[in-house]
Order: sequence, then structure tokens, then C-alpha cells
Amino acid sequence: MAESKPKIASVWLEACAGCHMSFLDMDERLVELFKKVELTSSPISDIKEIPEVTVGIIEGGLGNEEELHIAKDLRSKCKLLVAWGDCAVFGGINGMRNFMKPEDLLREAYTDGVTTVNPSGVLPGIDAPGEVPALLPEAIPVDRAVKVDVYVPGCPPDADTIAYVFDEILAGRVPKVPSEMMRYD
Ligand code: SF4
Repeated sequence: MAESKPKIASVWLEACAGCHMSFLDMDERLVELFKKVELTSSPISDIKEIPEVTVGIIEGGLGNEEELHIAKDLRSKCKLLVAWGDCAVFGGINGMRNFMKPEDLLREAYTDGVTTVNPSGVLPGIDAPGEVPALLPEAIPVDRAVKVDVYVPGCPPDADTIAYVFDEILAGRVPKVPSEMMRYD
């Protein structure tokens, strides 16, 4: 009987999506990778339900209750959780909002911003509770909410680093990214 491939699920939370774009930069190495693993769900698939997987990958930090739920859900369904990119590892650009109160952030986003168009003046999250996911008091890295097994710093981690991480995992090791592989482009 053919051996089943390790399953991988990836999610992107509060972030710029650059880490997933870097994954695509692996180019033809992706073809080889997908011979060895099965990507069950990702931001570019239509599958919203996260299945049980071997490896879970999180890009982005946690800024609201919905993201917190996704992180906990993925953690409960994977054996190895990878925090992928600086936003997930230590907060990255998401942490910049920690200098503002959540209410001020919502006002800037929905009513007061220079480019904001909001004729109703209704402020989601304050005037209309539940219309947007409730913000956490501050944006936090993934390991403030759930246990992380593998940290992949970088903004974004480059394709070589991502390939290294997969090679290590497929060899049965828990990768530790060497400092010379941490990239900031
Ligand atoms: Fe974007 Fe950098 Fe955050 Fe990745 S770590 S999501 S590239 S800002």
C-alpha cells in the first residue's frame, strides 16, 4: 500500500501575504515538494475547514478574536506548528498598532482616515458591534496564544529558507533556522 504523504495546512492572518508569496518563489522546487506532501488547505484554496494535518503553518500575527480562533483551531489539528515570518514570530508590522487604542484604530480605519469614504459614519466594532471581529487589546505573535514548534523569522523568509524548513521536516527533524538564513528584503 502506498505510504500517505504528510498533510500541510497554511493560514494567513493579519499580515501582508508576503510570506505566502515567498513560498511561491520556490518555483520548480514546489513541484518536487508536492510529490512528497499534500497541501490540504491554504489561503489560495476554497477549503475553509482546517483538517487534521501533520504540519500547520501560520503567516501573520493575531489581532482579533477571529484570528485567535483560527490559530487555536490549527494548533489543535496539527502535530507541528510553524510560525512563518516576523509577524507570526514576534508581531512584526502588526505590532505597530499597539501604539494606538483599539477604538482609535477603528476610527482611523472606518471614519477618520484621509482616504476613508464612509457616508454613514457608522463605526464597525463600536457603533455596530459584531460587524467586524472584535479586536484584541493588542496585536500579538502566535506563541502568545498557542504553542509554536518551529520559528521561521524573516520578512519574508526567502524561498531557500522555506525549502530548508521543509527539507528538515521531511527528514524527521524539527528545523532551527540558522541566523545566516534569516532574510529581510
Ligand atoms: Fe509580510 Fe513580512 Fe509579515 Fe511576512 S513577515 S506577512 S512579508 S510583513
